[in-house]
Amino acid sequence: MILDLSDIIKNDKDVMSVDCDIDLSSLEFMGEDFTFSKPLHIVGVVRNNTKNLELDAEVSGSMQVRCARCAKPFSTEVRFDVSEILIREDGEISPDSDVVIFSGHEVDLTEIVTNNFFMNVSGRYLCKEDCKGLCSVCGIDLNEGTCSCDSDTIDPRWAALAEIIKDTTTE
Ligand SMILES: [Zn+2]
Ligand SMILES: [Zn+2]
Repeated sequence: MILDLSDIIKNDKDVMSVDCDIDLSSLEFMGEDFTFSKPLHIVGVVRNNTKNLELDAEVSGSMQVRCARCAKPFSTEVRFDVSEILIREDGEISPDSDVVIFSGHEVDLTEIVTNNFFMNVSGRYLCKEDCKGLCSVCGIDLNEGTCSCDSDTIDPRWAALAEIIKDTTTE
């Protein structure tokens, strides 16, 4: 989604409203897949501060993620604020400032929303607060049923540690 800034650039102190859909389809972040069945909605304003433009908006929508415990896909709400200073490439840009530089009179809203999404994403989602996850032995979904696996069975990586603990407690 390209945002046309040609009017707001020309009018100092002016405010332009932003209200549109951003179609991200799917994103991958740190091995996690996020799927957007519907476009995200961005609502806010672009203000002309004479020296630069300021984007202030809220992004909302929903996305499909996988539960960190049981791996079941589920839908969760997305909501975050976007606040960016937009400066044209021929403007006054201090090297250490965190700004969005654009050329001509257009800025890529999809790119801004994507970057802000990554800054706001938590990376760990649970289908429900008390999700029981999967049995580490047989893989059954413990939310849906029980299995007869030995619940004391320990991940082999911890077995050595368990041996040490047993030794010290039986002494
Ligand atoms: Zn779950
Ligand atoms: Zn099991």
